[in-house]
Amino acid sequence: MASGRRKDPQKVLRTVKKAEVERLVRDLVRIPSHEDVPTQEKEVAEHLHEFLEDEGVESRLRTVERNRPNVIAAVKGSSGGRSLMLNGHTDTVPAYDMNIPPFKPDVRNGRLYGRGSLDMKGGLGAMAMALVAIERSKVELDGNLYLTAVVGEERRSEGTEDIILRGPRADMAIVGEPTDMEIQPSHRGLEWLEAHFHGKAAHGGQADRGVNAISMAARFVGKVEEDLLPKLRARKSRHTLPPTLNLGVIQGGQQPSSVADHCVVRIDRRWVPEETLQQVFGEILQIFDELKKEDPRFKAELRRDPANMKTMTHVPNVVRKDHRVVVSLARAIKDVTKRPAKISTFWGWTDAALMTHFGKMPTVVFGPGGAGAHSRVEYVFVDDLIQCAHVYSMAALDICG
Ligand SMILES: [Zn+2]
Repeated sequence: MASGRRKDPQKVLRTVKKAEVERLVRDLVRIPSHEDVPTQEKEVAEHLHEFLEDEGVESRLRTVERNRPNVIAAVKGSSGGRSLMLNGHTDTVPAYDMNIPPFKPDVRNGRLYGRGSLDMKGGLGAMAMALVAIERSKVELDGNLYLTAVVGEERRSEGTEDIILRGPRADMAIVGEPTDMEIQPSHRGLEWLEAHFHGKAAHGGQADRGVNAISMAARFVGKVEEDLLPKLRARKSRHTLPPTLNLGVIQGGQQPSSVADHCVVRIDRRWVPEETLQQVFGEILQIFDELKKEDPRFKAELRRDPANMKTMTHVPNVVRKDHRVVVSLARAIKDVTKRPAKISTFWGWTDAALMTHFGKMPTVVFGPGGAGAHSRVEYVFVDDLIQCAHVYSMAALDICG
């Protein structure tokens, strides 16, 4: 039995067709699932759940928050062997001002267009088809193969936090975010911070009686650019791109004739595995201290931005390149695409970090190619969808087989 089923992975691959993956991804794109939809991710989750059930794959919906269920599906193994989780998010960013109809998926020149086609209903559909392929081919796995389709990755990662806290758990995992068919075992952590500056209001005609919070913010920005940014640029990581700090938003003051008593600078800080969160905070607090020494009226505080995370810090992700999940994926990519697998690193942050760090499931990112995530023209390559479905199924056979 064991040798027989390993001999013919091609049989598994043949059970799903390109047109089927395309149809599923189109259906997922057609159902809006961003934060402005009153029912949030509910309908897309229900669609995926029903699709899997119709295919005979064990699936359930589990509510994370009102109207917001995760889909948890599984092809169960027979003997408690090594297990694998495929994970993807069901939410997308809103349509904003797209130049294409966001929710009328259209296929042209091998590209499937629409909001979420690339980020990441493409990868999610391919992952679902991998479970379908294994179910249809009646292969008996030793270990469990899971699919978790989660809510809220574009917000606070509520869905993946829920999986980590309540299960299921697997020995390793793959997140299907778009990577252009490359394996990405590591990426930076992400922290959103707010620097608040507190001054003293006064009439603009008597500005000397006040303390200007906007001026404090300006001094802070100056020091960040002179002292901190060069330090970060020089800091290299063995695993990821170098760290960054972006000054994303500045807000302060009421009107021109008032001395501003409050100003806030919102910061995006991408940190590398060689840094610590304390260091991330500490380097900014040190600038506050220096500015206070220069001017005793300087008053600032540093806060975490609650919009970016729920309870789990968005740490960096690091998985060794010789880990089983990387090796199995690389083998599968070579078999399916007939090209050697590429291992790279990504500028973005994904739920993989939470799964590796807090879920104790080493997790890497691998998904289709395309362009325009979060922007005006978003598409995914249709050929990549079927290839991803095949790669996920072969990796699953290798890991759980
Ligand atoms: Zn995404």
